[in-house]
Amino acid sequence: MEGAISFLRGQGFAVSSIATPPKIESIFKSVDIGKIDVIILDGRLPSPDVFDFLKSLRSMHSTACVILAGMVSNVNKAAALLRAGIFDILKVPFPLRRLERIIRQGLKNRQKLNHILQLSDRLDSAYKLLEEDRDRLQKWSNDLQRLYTLNQTLSESLNIDEVTQALAANLKKVVQHDIACLFLKNENRVRVYTDQRKSAAFLDRVSSETLQTGQELLEKGDPPSGPMVLKGGSEILVPLRVATERVGLLRLIRFSKETFDDLQSRALAMISLSLSLAIRNAEIHQEVQALASKDELTSLLNRRAFLNVVDREFRRAARHETSLTLILIDIDHFKEINDSYGHLVGDQVIREIAQIIQKSVRDVDTVARYGGDELVVVLPKTNLEEALIAAQRIRKKIRTFLFKDGGQSIPITISMGIAQCPASLIKTPDDLFRSADQALYAAKKKGRNRIEFSRLPAVTVREGEAVSK
Ligand code: GH3
Ligand code: MG
Repeated sequence: MEGAISFLRGQGFAVSSIATPPKIESIFKSVDIGKIDVIILDGRLPSPDVFDFLKSLRSMHSTACVILAGMVSNVNKAAALLRAGIFDILKVPFPLRRLERIIRQGLKNRQKLNHILQLSDRLDSAYKLLEEDRDRLQKWSNDLQRLYTLNQTLSESLNIDEVTQALAANLKKVVQHDIACLFLKNENRVRVYTDQRKSAAFLDRVSSETLQTGQELLEKGDPPSGPMVLKGGSEILVPLRVATERVGLLRLIRFSKETFDDLQSRALAMISLSLSLAIRNAEIHQEVQALASKDELTSLLNRRAFLNVVDREFRRAARHETSLTLILIDIDHFKEINDSYGHLVGDQVIREIAQIIQKSVRDVDTVARYGGDELVVVLPKTNLEEALIAAQRIRKKIRTFLFKDGGQSIPITISMGIAQCPASLIKTPDDLFRSADQALYAAKKKGRNRIEFSRLPAVTVREGEAVSK
């Protein structure tokens, strides 16, 4: 080997000779394998060692050309060595020129191999970039889909609670956050949504902060046209507006280190458009509904809205097996009031009676103008006896109230008819109205200024109890 070494050095190669340690892989500890182009292994090494060596070499990503100098006992073994990565097997003794030729050929091969490996690396990184692009596109498409779904959901409802619930349920899928606060200018209150375990005091603080910011931005100041990222990216404020009209403010808070970015800000800008429109539409719908159910003269519910309330209460009473009473109230000789004092005074009397009745009943009772000079009250969870007490209270207040036309006092009395359910023959809300109407008719017939109640036997109220004028 000494001759070969000095020959190769003479040909310009830098050559080192390393004595084989007992464990061949430990050679890598003393050699910088990345700097070695050609390795000539002594063919007398045991073949398992050679295989281990080649394996280690590969695991270190070395592309060094390995030549085995020595005898190989049989063809199969030679083939196995070549498959394992030996570039060539040089029978000993060999002419030095042949060694040089093999080395040069090996080096060329290695150059080609390195080139192929570089190409493969570039392909790998191009593929990775493509994969990243594909993932980004996929995420973008998913985000767009979620954005579309959220916008659709928001536009589907005309009820403010449904709109805000849809927002709370879906917003997280588009823009991740820990707390969402929604300030609505018309309601002048803040709704807070979170699935974090936070104390009531903490949430109260977040809510009042949002209220203050909302009021300052929308009512006093000039709100920004788009989302504003604040507090180092942990918060984002999204003004809600329809054209120049200020609707509210959405505030999102994050506790994680990940901050709100430009993409999310743009997504929120899009959401804010449909959210503002949905809120405004729901508010207008609510106003229209309220107007449609109100009696203009008294501001009480009108007949149509009242029938809905009675329907609902009737079903609830049946379901919970509780009593429900209806009091029909009619002003006595009201035509004469109109005739004597004029319609405007008549209107004023109706308004005052409406107020007296409204103030004489509980919050859970509903008062309405049934039509003309007729008013009506429905009292849930109330039996005939309890309704009679309420009716007497109303009658007393009207008796003692001073109705006036200028300085002149107007004598006003009312008649009332009360009906309750459950009672025999009362199967529907219509039956209940008919029964109260019959009682009212009886009150009128018996001379007015009195309370009459339906004579239908009650089903749950104990019969025979003192229920009288
Ligand atoms: P009764 O004791 O039998 O009830 O006699 P009444 O004169 O009150 O008769 P009724 O209840 O049938 O007449 C109701 C009158 O109320 C008829 C109508 O001129 C008058 N009225 C109805 N709506 C209004 C209203 O909005 N304003 C005024 N001022 N009067 C009304
Ligand atoms: Mg009347």
